[in-house]
Amino acid sequence: MQGRRLLMIPGPIEFTYEVLAETSKPTLSHVDPQFIEEFGQALEKMRKVWLAPSGQPFIVAGSGTLAMELAVANITEPGDRVLILHTGYFSDRMGDIFRRHGAEVEVVASEPGDVAGVKAVKARLAAGSYKILSITHVDTSTGVRTDVHSLAKVAAEHGALVLVDGVCSVGGEALDMEAWGVDIALTASQKAIGTPPGLALLVASRRAIETFRARKKPVSSYYCDWSNWLPVMEAYEARKAAYFGTPAVNLVRALNVSLDQILAEGMEARLARHARHAAAFRAGMRAMGLSFVPARESLYANTLSAIWYPQGIDASVLGLISEEGAMLAGGLHPAIKTRYFRVGHMGMTNAEEILAVTGAIERAFARAGWKSEPGAAVAAAQRMLLG
Ligand code: PMP
Repeated sequence: MQGRRLLMIPGPIEFTYEVLAETSKPTLSHVDPQFIEEFGQALEKMRKVWLAPSGQPFIVAGSGTLAMELAVANITEPGDRVLILHTGYFSDRMGDIFRRHGAEVEVVASEPGDVAGVKAVKARLAAGSYKILSITHVDTSTGVRTDVHSLAKVAAEHGALVLVDGVCSVGGEALDMEAWGVDIALTASQKAIGTPPGLALLVASRRAIETFRARKKPVSSYYCDWSNWLPVMEAYEARKAAYFGTPAVNLVRALNVSLDQILAEGMEARLARHARHAAAFRAGMRAMGLSFVPARESLYANTLSAIWYPQGIDASVLGLISEEGAMLAGGLHPAIKTRYFRVGHMGMTNAEEILAVTGAIERAFARAGWKSEPGAAVAAAQRMLLG
């Protein structure tokens, strides 16, 4: 399309026409029966996408960082001990939020692109009594995916609540919230959930809600307090009107459409597509002689790739890639920020977009002087898509 560039950053992503069309409908009252029905449906569908049949979903206007604070503020009391699995920029942010809410934070550290193993986390959990283990499922700053399933198991052995920042995973990576024993899994609308930016989304387990109900001190943030939001979520799900803060009506309606699309594809098929497209994209990058930030292949996320600039290429290539038709993101992890770039491949990304972004990178790198076989990257990606 003339003048239009493919948005392949790790969120916001490309949205479907149906989702975008929904946002442009005339805004309904937040107590209109039609909106109440759609809000209620969206909450119900979240349980299916999160695989949390007995979870309590929340939809609140705000970004992913608000979802993080909506989680932390309600289950943390001053002095609580929290163990953070360090993965990069976003696990650091979670640590900051916990500290702001009075927690005593300890970190299982790692080098950029790496993450501590389950054994190391188990040892730390055994050595201290932690109330919460906080995990970033996919750290968008490095493209590292953590093993939430195994980590949640060891947390359960030590009685710790499991908080998962799934902003770059929910809807694109396997997350079986209830079966895995995750207590809170949160995300934002603009990533693999496929709705324009502006919604903080979170599902809390029964145990998380009990922890909140058993608080000794009130929640220190007025806007985040579940005491304000729970009655609203419960009311909409019961198809009744309720008010605390005006919901982002158009976005909630778009979310309802997007969740329909996710469920129509089916979670298994959707995750398989994400894995296939990630593999195809990376095959293309490898064919150009490029390598990835995550330390091992087992850590590669399916929702985004973080790619090292090779010798002689720097962030200025992003401008060329943009001219070639794709918007990509620079580095984010402070220790390596200038040395890599990031490509999102999540949501409704299709094979055509994978080939288009691969081709744009290949052309831009050639213009920047990188020597590789012309067409090899696109061919490698195509081969994988056909395979
Ligand atoms: N956590 C992760 C893993 C993220 O990728 C992001 C956004 N890139 C956030 C939290 C924060 O989300 P937001 O920018 O919507 O506040």
